[in-house]
Amino acid sequence: MTKINTVLGPISPEDLGLTLVHEHIAAGYPGWECDPLSRPYDRGKMAKVCMRALEPVKSYGLNSIIDATTMDLNRDVDLLKEVSEKLQIHIICCTGRYTEEEGKWAYLKVRSRLKIDDMYTALYEGFLHEITKGIGPSGVKPGVIKVATGLKHISPLEEAVLKAAARASKETGIPIITHTEGGTLGPEQAELLTGEGVNPKSIMIGHMCGNPSLQYQVSVLNNGVQIAFDRFGLESFVSDKVRIAALVGLLGVGYTDRIMLSQDCTGCASGRGGQPPAEVRQTAANSSFFHIFLNIIPALKQAGITDEQIRALLVNNPRRLFIGE
Ligand SMILES: [Zn+2]
Repeated sequence: MTKINTVLGPISPEDLGLTLVHEHIAAGYPGWECDPLSRPYDRGKMAKVCMRALEPVKSYGLNSIIDATTMDLNRDVDLLKEVSEKLQIHIICCTGRYTEEEGKWAYLKVRSRLKIDDMYTALYEGFLHEITKGIGPSGVKPGVIKVATGLKHISPLEEAVLKAAARASKETGIPIITHTEGGTLGPEQAELLTGEGVNPKSIMIGHMCGNPSLQYQVSVLNNGVQIAFDRFGLESFVSDKVRIAALVGLLGVGYTDRIMLSQDCTGCASGRGGQPPAEVRQTAANSSFFHIFLNIIPALKQAGITDEQIRALLVNNPRRLFIGE
């Protein structure tokens, strides 16, 4: 019987319920900690901001969130525990790494250059340690492994991450979720991971709504993997209208059991604060943890998508990702 690791301990797949599969409750881009003007890191304050952002989504019946914040994006499992406990939602955190360009790599690169250890093995051991022993002294175990590739090119380092994750996933049964950049490399990620022998049903290729080409979507789905339309509300490159059109098309030709939804929303970001200018803010005007429930589901229903199909996207498919079926 599969158990899913949440930040408060294991749950059964049946307990997952309505699930958002790619959000960031709190995160920080590498470098925020070197900004002298960054606000001091105050977990209690951050947790309060996150809870205010998350509270409204509870009224839609949300039960679980996969937090896709990797260890190099300021993942804070103690904060996640506090939010989970107080809001009574399951939070599944991840082990894993971000892209070469935007992650934190200097330490492992130096060790690998000095031949202290090789990148692949060091990464694999790190992922396995967190999955089996827990994250630092918290004892919290991740429920998913997150991997990422940059724009149009999988670097040797990113390939090592995907292969290390593949090995850790095969040995532990923990699913893999991915970040793709700018609507590229979905098919390549799916091929690489399944080529390493990972159960395709335990793979969710992320940010697929970054490329509305149905040809592209189908070339990923042909690998047997699941995909995520997980950036609703972030409209700088692709509008929600185009995402909905692509999603409705895929659902219409029989991919209802292969797609999951989310918003890639961040509840609280570390750093000095401040706002982008109005024209940039405009492209994320609808971004929130409840945007899917407030705006996207009604639009899907208007397009003829049934309640049963919506339940598949938000309840059944996340559960199937964890049980690998
Ligand atoms: Zn994300």
